[in-house]
Amino acid sequence: MDIIDLHTHTTASDGSLTPTELVAAAQRAGLKAVAITDHDTVDGVAEALAAGAALGQAVAPGVEISLQGYPAQGLPGSMHLLGLFLDHADPDLGAGLARLQRARAERNPQIVAKFNQLGIPLTLEEVAAFAGGELIGRPHFAQALIARKVVANRGEAFARYLAVGKPAYVAKWRFPPAEGISLLKRAGAVTVLAHPGLFKMGLAGLEALLRRLMADGLDGVEAYYSEHDPAYTRAVLGLAARLGLVVSGGSDFHGGQKPDILLGLGRGDLRVPAGLLAGLEERRRAVLASATVTTHN
Ligand code: AMP
Ligand code: ZN
Ligand code: FE
Ligand code: FE
Repeated sequence: MDIIDLHTHTTASDGSLTPTELVAAAQRAGLKAVAITDHDTVDGVAEALAAGAALGQAVAPGVEISLQGYPAQGLPGSMHLLGLFLDHADPDLGAGLARLQRARAERNPQIVAKFNQLGIPLTLEEVAAFAGGELIGRPHFAQALIARKVVANRGEAFARYLAVGKPAYVAKWRFPPAEGISLLKRAGAVTVLAHPGLFKMGLAGLEALLRRLMADGLDGVEAYYSEHDPAYTRAVLGLAARLGLVVSGGSDFHGGQKPDILLGLGRGDLRVPAGLLAGLEERRRAVLASATVTTHN
């Protein structure tokens, strides 16, 4: 079966491979297509597209952004949205992503201050060095903590300090769902709720969340994912068919940042069928056809 991987991170956010290295790895893995979906930035996309053209590897431009949830309705308080097949040069998209990057720039010194209050003399410069001059995320704080031998690994860094509710956690501003979905769709993206399995909620809850997101314009759901078992994937496929959502899938590959997750293969047995591309392409045409009517300020 031909396989694809529509969820990956590069050095433009918190992955360890450069866009060129990632595209070369996708080709070695025999992927029919690979999407670049860095957190809050499309800075890796142009390089990935150039590498794809040079190597003859299909590359889809994308992004992964954080959204506010619907906590007042008993639904998750935050989530990740993928935008696939977007125009990475779209100026409005650039402005929206710049807002998210400013929110990070405001958060990072606050996280440093929390560590300092905890008696860990971390500096922003030290953390930034792990980000290689690109976007700084919590995984880079985790790397700095490992280098200082404060923790043994990334899991411990999140469990003790960085995860929601832990002493060094600082919330950052996120788009309200309708606004984030519209931002990506106006740049031509097919919008997909990422890794629903990570909510650890039942299928009835997921259905309620998806219906709410569809009212805000959501196109699809990531049914195939490294942390989804086959039964869960089948259940999400059934839900998507019933609700009229398109289906996507990917590994969330981060290179050495998440060494157990392999490109295209996830934990070893992920197989995202290339046949999904047809449905995604069809939805993309519908998004483009309606782009003028959804334009707003
Ligand atoms: P940020 O974008 O700075 O909020 O960080 C998001 C990154 O942190 C993503 O790559 C996640 O995979 C990672 N992450 C979030 N929560 C955890 C956790 N509990 N354990 C390990 N990694 C996490
Ligand atoms: Zn990441
Ligand atoms: Fe995510
Ligand atoms: Fe991701």
